[in-house]
Parts: sequence; C-alpha cells; structure tokens
Amino acid sequence: MNRIFIISSFFLNLIQDTISIHTNNSCKLLEEHEHTFSMAYHLKDNVIKYNLASLEKMKENSPLKHLSDEEFFEVCIYHELGHYLDYKKNQDRHSVRMENDYPELEFKFIGEQNAWRYGKEIIPPYRTEFSKNFEAQPQNQCLNI
Ligand SMILES: [Zn+2]
Repeated sequence: MNRIFIISSFFLNLIQDTISIHTNNSCKLLEEHEHTFSMAYHLKDNVIKYNLASLEKMKENSPLKHLSDEEFFEVCIYHELGHYLDYKKNQDRHSVRMENDYPELEFKFIGEQNAWRYGKEIIPPYRTEFSKNFEAQPQNQCLNI
C-alpha cells in the first residue's frame, strides 16, 4: 500500500513535450501536493496539475489498473489535453467556467465527454491500445479526471 506511483523525470520531460506540441507551447505540467484531485486541467492558469498519491489511488480502483504507472499517467494526460482542446474549440460554452473554475459546475458532463473525444483524437499511432480505454470511459465516467 505504500508503493509510490513511479514516474521518471525522463518520462515527465517527454510528457511536457507532448503537452507543448498540442498547446502551442502554452500549457505547463505541475506537480501538486494537495490530495484533493488526481489530475486536472486548470483553464485560468493554463496548467495541468497532478498529484501522484491520488493518481495511485485512482489507478488501483480503475479498469485501467493493468497499465503501467507511466501508461496510466499518459492516458490521463491525453484526457486533460482533451479538456484543453474542448476549451479552445468551444469557447462560448466555456466562458462561464473562466470565472468559476470548479469541475462540479455545469457543463461537466459534456465537458468530460468532449475531453475523452478530443483526447482520443491526439493519441499517437503507437499508442492505439489507449484508444480502447478512451472508448470505455465516457459512459460510466469511472475515471474522475
Ligand atoms: Zn475530465
């Protein structure tokens, strides 16, 4: 139970490069030590924040627990990039969230569906197996990210 979610700094650099490619060098990846969420895209600051302890807990209870820690982290990143792309493509719908950056608020369901959809579109070909994980998500929302 005291296992630590294992993410190398080399991998984090690759992930930051992936994020930069899809966000025109604008979005940053930040580790957060608060346990209130596992991973989230923050529109106001244009950052993806993650908490490793929460991610570890989420992975253990998810249908994706067969993935390695880094693979699981990467799936979550594509989902968060999906949120970024959703904000870019649907700015009218999201103007309210500019002022209230709380995921519980309205639009959450559509926002989550869009995040899985747009995230899936940018999964690289060598990660096609991730697409299956994305298809499983929108209906049951079993990953709360
Ligand atoms: Zn989400």
